[in-house]
Amino acid sequence: MHKVRGILIGRMQPVHNGHMEVIKQILSEVDEIVIGIGSAQLSHELKDPFTAGERVLMMNQALAEIDVDPSKYYIIPMQDINFNAIWPSHVKMLTPPFDIVYSGNPLVKQLFEEEGYEVRQPPLYDRVHLSGTEVRRRILNDENWEELVPNATVELIEEIKGVERIRNLSVKEVSDI
Ligand code: NAD
Repeated sequence: MHKVRGILIGRMQPVHNGHMEVIKQILSEVDEIVIGIGSAQLSHELKDPFTAGERVLMMNQALAEIDVDPSKYYIIPMQDINFNAIWPSHVKMLTPPFDIVYSGNPLVKQLFEEEGYEVRQPPLYDRVHLSGTEVRRRILNDENWEELVPNATVELIEEIKGVERIRNLSVKEVSDI
């Protein structure tokens, strides 16, 4: 029987509770989900502090925390390419076949719509607070970032000394100016 697959692509810098809500919603609509870890080539930058491998692990552990059946998802890192018009083909090459693209990102929606895919925009969950930008801002300012991400993500960021990494990156960038 044909399994209906949805895809969600995000930088996941880091995984936060908004991503987890979207993933739960998608899994209520399709049989399997492909989770693309976008901008896989980037790490150790203030906007993109975590490596693709760290983000794969982060996502994997966050899904385990909410008991998602491991046979229902694929986590695939994907590098950016310079050509927006052929990016959907690049994504297709890297992933199991998918039927529905889930995204709130206007460029992602536009590119896949032009390729004839069904694109669905999931509802936004507390976007003011649930964004990677806000999590990274709170980490830098020593505010409560832990409440915005799964417990597994807090543990992983502590394990890889992610808070120190982000703060060091900010010191370096300021002193470089
Ligand atoms: P993101 O991590 O900000 O978000 C991922 C998805 O989760 C998005 O669809 C977003 O709408 C959703 N989301 C985030 N917070 C949410 C919340 N609070 N409630 C509900 N949904 C929420 O990532 P993004 O910026 O959308 O990632 C797109 C990726 O695709 C990037 O890595 C980008 O570089 C890549 N891309 C690459 C090319 C290319 O290589 N040419 C072209 C287009 C996009």
